[in-house]
Amino acid sequence: MTAETPPRSPRSLYLHIPFCSQRCPYCDFAINLSGEALQDRYVGALLEELKLLRGGTRIELDTVYLGGGTPTLLRPELLERLLSFVFSQFSLSGSLEVTIEANPEGITPEMVRLWLSLGINRVSLGIQSLDDATLRWLGRGHSASSAVDAIRSCRVAGLENLSCDLIFAVPDQDSGGFEASLRRLLQFHPEHVSCYELTVEQGTPLQREVKAQRRTGPSVDAYLRERRLAVELLAGAGLDQYEVSNYARSGFQSQHNLTYWKGLPYLAAGSGAHGFLAPDEGWRLGIQGGGGGLRYWHLRDAATYIRAIAAGGRGIRGHEWLSAAQVELERLACGLRLSEGVDLQSASQLARARELALMGLVEIAGSTVRATTGGVDVLDRLTLELSAA
Ligand code: SF4
Repeated sequence: MTAETPPRSPRSLYLHIPFCSQRCPYCDFAINLSGEALQDRYVGALLEELKLLRGGTRIELDTVYLGGGTPTLLRPELLERLLSFVFSQFSLSGSLEVTIEANPEGITPEMVRLWLSLGINRVSLGIQSLDDATLRWLGRGHSASSAVDAIRSCRVAGLENLSCDLIFAVPDQDSGGFEASLRRLLQFHPEHVSCYELTVEQGTPLQREVKAQRRTGPSVDAYLRERRLAVELLAGAGLDQYEVSNYARSGFQSQHNLTYWKGLPYLAAGSGAHGFLAPDEGWRLGIQGGGGGLRYWHLRDAATYIRAIAAGGRGIRGHEWLSAAQVELERLACGLRLSEGVDLQSASQLARARELALMGLVEIAGSTVRATTGGVDVLDRLTLELSAA
């Protein structure tokens, strides 16, 4: 057992589409409002960056993920231009997963049919809640009924791989509200559900409100209660918790997100996007150096990104060479979140894992360790214990 660096060329591509019609008060993503005028130039810049990233090599993709922002705000001809370019410039695996993130407002069956015709085969809907009071608290632009309409539009159009995002531990809503919301969602039999707790991110309008005591932040009690409720209800509906916050029917796990959680390399393009490359792939970014892996991130503002690409750059704001120890720490941190667990890399890690197993925090099978229900509550601690061993 020896420490490993990421083993392969990237097989996943993340494309950031930053446009949103409003800023939700809890969101700290790289977004641009009123992006209509920028859309053409933004897609042009993305294609330029992709050419540089590909660098004349053959890259076979297993997954393409259009995230945001709100990618579905891209005009259809630009979405087509972008995907046609990707499909013509990269090799595609036979089981290619192509995901688009979508907000519920205004989604029609015609829109979903168009996405399917362009090669998109998975939609991740930002439902967040099917409770209007919760949606108002979150400052979302849609209602519970428009979220239901969006789900129905996906099904009427023939989409067979639907993922829905929910947010839990929203203050001022009792767990009955979350439970009702989740039960209602399950009536539509989504193939995949992501349940994320509300977090108060630095620099967001929500954080300023909480700091000024005009709103309360999420409570640990609600977090634990509602997370356990989600595990129970989703398991009862046949969705396995394959990652701490993600549940899927058999065969519908997010292949793209598994790339992140398994610490594998992936390409990312577009304003605000973060990518991760194996040590010998820095040339794709024109970066020299070495280490256990290369993390890079882009300029956050779309207009600044477009200008940087127009000037012959790659739109990169920064990069960091991770040491082998840092890569290993991240591999353990993400791998322990997976129900399949993570392979341990040394005898000392295995010895420490056996001690943690005696405390009921992990289970061990061969050289693979996975967190138990009790261990999931202290994942950060488990990661530190195993990485220090
Ligand atoms: S729609 Fe999504 S990406 Fe856009 S501001 Fe709201 S949470 Fe952020």
